Amino acid sequence: MAEIYYDNDADLSLIRSKKVAIIGYGSQGHAHALNLKDSGVDVVVGLRPGSSSWAKAEEAGLEVKDVPEAVAEGDVVMILVPDQAQRSVYAERIAPFLKPDAALFFAHGFNIRFGYIDPGEGHDVCMVAPKGPGHKVREAFLQGVGTPDVVAVEVDASGEAWPLTLSYAKALGGTKAGVIKTTFTEETETDLFGEQAVLCGGVSHLIQAGFETLVEAGYQPEIAYFEVCHELKQIVDLINEGGITKQRWSCSDTAEYGDYVSGPRVIGPQVKSAMKDVLSDIQDGTFATRFIADQDSGALEFKALRAEEEQHPIEKTGHFLRSKFGWTQQDDDYVDGSAAR
Ligand code: NAD
Ligand code: MG
Repeated sequence: MAEIYYDNDADLSLIRSKKVAIIGYGSQGHAHALNLKDSGVDVVVGLRPGSSSWAKAEEAGLEVKDVPEAVAEGDVVMILVPDQAQRSVYAERIAPFLKPDAALFFAHGFNIRFGYIDPGEGHDVCMVAPKGPGHKVREAFLQGVGTPDVVAVEVDASGEAWPLTLSYAKALGGTKAGVIKTTFTEETETDLFGEQAVLCGGVSHLIQAGFETLVEAGYQPEIAYFEVCHELKQIVDLINEGGITKQRWSCSDTAEYGDYVSGPRVIGPQVKSAMKDVLSDIQDGTFATRFIADQDSGALEFKALRAEEEQHPIEKTGHFLRSKFGWTQQDDDYVDGSAAR
């Protein structure tokens, strides 16, 4: 059985006795910095001079410094810049300025697992990885419910890395929900697999294929959007609340029977075999190497794929239809590519 920890297992005073440098103020960074500050932790945010986040963080009442200065003050340094930037930020702007006994924290194990960051000697290497996007992590904290995290210790140099990790998770709101113990390797490999095969890659392409099938058969795109995309949220909410069984209980018998007989025709053995190939590319580093090589040469493949996918007809239909709904359109906080953080 997985080991799960709650508020009572964690001592908030440990993280409160440290200065915590949060490097980056994006999706995760703003949530970590603000939640920790609200939990009574002494936080400094490390950003590049000229970063558009600088003013936002200051307006939120946070102390902001250039990355090396923030790092130099940090007893705990949480690295929340994008995974592909972490290697160079670490080498140039973190490592030379780290206190000898500073603890290094991550929210995803990518750079440690694939060897892009070598933390050297003397540093605890810990993970507190929320299982949700940063904006939800902040929202749940403010609602007093918290977001579950997975937590791990790769290097326990101080002998106190575990209590410190749980203390950080408590300040972030994670132990309110419950945090599960993992390893950097398990978190990295399963996280990449989950987002590629199911959550992001799987679901996006399933929706697109369903939309294309209906539209190519002559049905209205707006109706197709409702049937294969809009309703997905209700279905996922039910699964999230009570598992696949609750979803099947809530849907009609017609839907449930169709699930049993047609689901396996769509998601057949070939899908699982492809999933195993995807997992093996993650485990042997093929995916990481391809991602980082592309990022290092200007992210040309990444940007081309993004531009191509944005042109999928369902995006246009969805954008139009969401503007017609009786509630506030939520497109605008990301459409310009710079989320309103
Ligand atoms: P993000 O892209 O939202 O934010 C990155 C931040 O880093 C921004 O403030 C950006 O300005 C700053 N930054 C970028 N390059 C920089 C540089 N060279 N020097 C200094 N600052 C720089 O990133 P994110 O999605 O919050 O991801 C951060 C970490 O959290 C990653 O390890 C990611 O895997 C992990 N994570 C993210 C999520 C999520 O939902 N977004 C969930 C769990 C874990
Ligand atoms: Mg994930």
